[in-house]
Amino acid sequence: MHRSGAFSRRALLVGGAASAGAALVGPGLAEEATTSAPLAPAPDRWDSLNRLTDGALLRPTDARFANEALPNNLRYRHIRPEGIAPCASPQMVADVLRWCRDYDVPFALRGGGHSYGGYSSSRGLVIDLSPMNGIDYDAATGQVRVEAGALNHEVYAALREAGRMITHGRCPSVGVAGFLLGGGIGFNMRRLGVGCDLLTGAQIVTADGRVRDVSAEKEPELFWALRGGGGGIFGVSTAFTLRTVPADERLTVFRIVWRDRTLDIAKALFTAAEMAPLSFGSRIALGGVTPALVQKGRQVPVTLLGQFAGSPDELIRLLAPVYAVAAPDFADIKQLPYWEGQDFLVEAGEPGWYRERSAFLAAAPTAAFLEASFQRLQQWPGTGAQSSLFFFQTGGRINEKAPDETAFVHRQTRWLAVVGANWSEDDNLRPEVTRRAFEWQDDLFATLGGHGGRGAFVNFPDPALGDWRRRYYGTNLDRLMQVKLAVDPNNVFHFQQSL
Ligand SMILES: Cc1cc2nc3c(=O)[nH]c(=O)nc-3n(C[C@H](O)[C@H](O)[C@H](O)COP(=O)(O)OP(=O)(O)OC[C@H]3O[C@@H](n4cnc5c(N)ncnc54)[C@H](O)[C@@H]3O)c2cc1C
Repeated sequence: MHRSGAFSRRALLVGGAASAGAALVGPGLAEEATTSAPLAPAPDRWDSLNRLTDGALLRPTDARFANEALPNNLRYRHIRPEGIAPCASPQMVADVLRWCRDYDVPFALRGGGHSYGGYSSSRGLVIDLSPMNGIDYDAATGQVRVEAGALNHEVYAALREAGRMITHGRCPSVGVAGFLLGGGIGFNMRRLGVGCDLLTGAQIVTADGRVRDVSAEKEPELFWALRGGGGGIFGVSTAFTLRTVPADERLTVFRIVWRDRTLDIAKALFTAAEMAPLSFGSRIALGGVTPALVQKGRQVPVTLLGQFAGSPDELIRLLAPVYAVAAPDFADIKQLPYWEGQDFLVEAGEPGWYRERSAFLAAAPTAAFLEASFQRLQQWPGTGAQSSLFFFQTGGRINEKAPDETAFVHRQTRWLAVVGANWSEDDNLRPEVTRRAFEWQDDLFATLGGHGGRGAFVNFPDPALGDWRRRYYGTNLDRLMQVKLAVDPNNVFHFQQSL
């Protein structure tokens, strides 16, 4: 019932993106990552694909299929493939790509399935990299080789055992390829750079079926593009090699919530965070707002979440000007070994319905922007879930590289702001609810743009962005287009926002 409703509201394939399937019909389910319906290949061709994948191919009649086909953003769950091809080696990837070409079957690449924009969903074939999840840490070099189908939690486990760390996110089920190819943000980024800054090499299968090992020495342009260009654009990544550093023996992790004088708290928090050392990694959240909070006229809560390679006492000293404004309503501050600290910070990342809009800030948000944001948050029209405005603290070592040193261009920033809207399954049956929520979100996003919000984070793909090329890639766009033309001249790898 829900799915057929979603279908009936799809329409109007947009211009040249038709094969990639950008559908725009307003704020509802319109910003879809759909692929046009493929011509279903004859059964014997599916048999040949099954042989190519050593019998691992999943078809809709398989018991596991429905679950495996689900993306993390359930907004796109109605985009169902004809088959899911688990690939266990680069050669298998090349064979499956050739099969797609021979039978003209559209495809999408999938690691962890967490694309905000549903870009790992397809009505043709989903090429599933999850069988390639080997991780090898080399104590002699301090480098780790990670196969591209690995998920965050598999990388965490290997690094935990080795006593090492990298820049990584908080969600265990995010895929490492999607994370690294778009840059990769996490609480270590101010002291280590974004995730892709730690890459020393990568392996990729390109449209011509070649398995290429790339690095600063070998195919430097492609290696440059893979560090921030985004997932699914240049080929199928099959492995990455990263520098690691020793994990902290002790790390202070914290979740602190204020519900009183929260506008002043937010102002003081940004000032304190800006002055903190690089080992302080933080996310400041305004929200989440719920209909009950709005109706009762309660203050929008402010939450500080993060980690610091100092003691809890040092953290409290650092936050003293904030505590002087108002005491927190809740504070959980712990000193733990690094990976236990990450257990504390973990974000479950359960599948749900969401839409996120991001922009970078070159300075801490202004008082005027914070005031406007609190006002808008108080006007949240309400869904069956809550909404928030997040600020991830960037800067530090990220900004030590020039914007053109890698494809990740956002080098002169201090914060990444994200306006999030979530809703529930029932809200999908009440289009006016999601419409109002999206209008509210677009309005707050426009306010962010009016207060210095620039660019957008390709790891948080936003199908509603009109000028996404410039916003994701800025001054690196032309060079990225040249790399794309060189390695994928026939645009084999395409979706709504794939260059
Ligand atoms: C709950 C949640 C938490 C998150 N936390 C963070 C965070 O802390 N930091 C951060 O930077 N991002 C974060 N993200 C964003 C996340 O990093 C990106 O969405 C990332 O692209 C997801 O990768 P995936 O493999 O899970 O998703 P997928 O949907 O499988 O893939 C994402 C994109 O990469 C492509 N792709 C997948 N595998 C390959 C491959 N092997 N080769 C080439 N292309 C490939 C896909 O086609 C798709 O376009 C989060 C997302 C969610 C939903």
